[in-house]
Amino acid sequence: MAVFKPDNVEDLYEMGEVLGSGHFGQVRKVRERSTGTLWAGKFLKIRKSQCSLLGLERSNVEREVMILEAVQHPNIVTLKDVFESRAEVVLILELVCGGELFDFIAEKENLLESEAIEFLKQILEALRFMHGKNVVHFDLKPENIMLSDKSSPQPIIKLIDFGLARRICQGEEFRSTSGTPQYIAPEVINCEPLNASADMCTMCTTINLTSVQSGLDDLNHNQSYNRSIGVITYILLSGLSPFQDETDEETLANILAMKFEFNDRYFSTTSSMAKDFIQKLLVKDPSERMTAEDSLHHPWIKPLTRSQKVKRNRSSINMKSFKKFNARRKWKMSYNMVRMCNRLVRLRLLCKSSDHDPVQRDCESDIEDTESKPASLLRRRLSSSS
Ligand code: ATP
Repeated sequence: MAVFKPDNVEDLYEMGEVLGSGHFGQVRKVRERSTGTLWAGKFLKIRKSQCSLLGLERSNVEREVMILEAVQHPNIVTLKDVFESRAEVVLILELVCGGELFDFIAEKENLLESEAIEFLKQILEALRFMHGKNVVHFDLKPENIMLSDKSSPQPIIKLIDFGLARRICQGEEFRSTSGTPQYIAPEVINCEPLNASADMCTMCTTINLTSVQSGLDDLNHNQSYNRSIGVITYILLSGLSPFQDETDEETLANILAMKFEFNDRYFSTTSSMAKDFIQKLLVKDPSERMTAEDSLHHPWIKPLTRSQKVKRNRSSINMKSFKKFNARRKWKMSYNMVRMCNRLVRLRLLCKSSDHDPVQRDCESDIEDTESKPASLLRRRLSSSS
């Protein structure tokens, strides 16, 4: 595994603007002093004491590093170096300059299915590669699908944020528990083992499983769905969320039953092949779901006949609805960011007014900050959108 270098990162890299933030730190543009090359520095706060809920356990960062090293692919962000100090670990990553795919698409006047497919294909290629190495992302959502350079005629997809990714070897079982981020996929709710198919199908969310089972009380404030390929494609084509319903209970019931429809009002310009593609991904039984490999061979992605090719060029995405969806998504991200800032300010005030020793103060702050919610749940809430 990569060595966590003890050097002071600022001796080697000049700090630049903030590119984004997650619950455990910031991502900043950094310039390598020796070469002038630009990179992205992901600064992750490390948990200081056992009782603290703030910060990441070092082992989680080690896992993210190990996975990034294992999945070197043109459509996956590259890890260059790792630095470690007492309070944080800094990952030096390839700088991804083109912004989020959804924002790029939302700026367009129209988009043919065949053009959208060029992006989907790259995401699928990355997933096929990762899944072939038994790595599952578990956090596919619009914020984590970026473009290397949006001004290029053929922008390249880069998947980022492997903080929740897991290596699941054959015969090994991975089930989410209350200590780790929770996903509302049918197999999660039913406590079945998770595997690569979770990246392909369901709308995974950050909702705490316990609260889901005990009455869905978290759905109201926590509609931060991670969109896996089936859901991402559905949204991309229609600007609608496939399982969204009037009430939270109905939404959850739809996810569990995999109940969704192609409303003509939103899917009037969608090809039947695209619908078939989604139908083969939004499947309850993981073993019946298309894999990344299968998806790449679906005729919508890889047409076999001329008429299939023509259909994709005649169909387009519902741009009006998609733009609305994306504007709502961005608004929710900003709202979450403001909430996170308010929380941090409250936390600082609390720390200042406390006379306790630093370790104890951490614990108290944690309790205040999390309002009795698991850190993992908070983490995903703050960083996501619906
Ligand atoms: P979260 O809490 O959402 O999981 P995180 O702490 O794991 O966040 P990332 O999701 O990896 O952090 O990054 C946060 C944001 O920083 C991203 O949404 C993106 O806007 C930006 N970002 C991350 N990596 C890069 C990169 N390599 N190049 C450019 N921007 C990046």
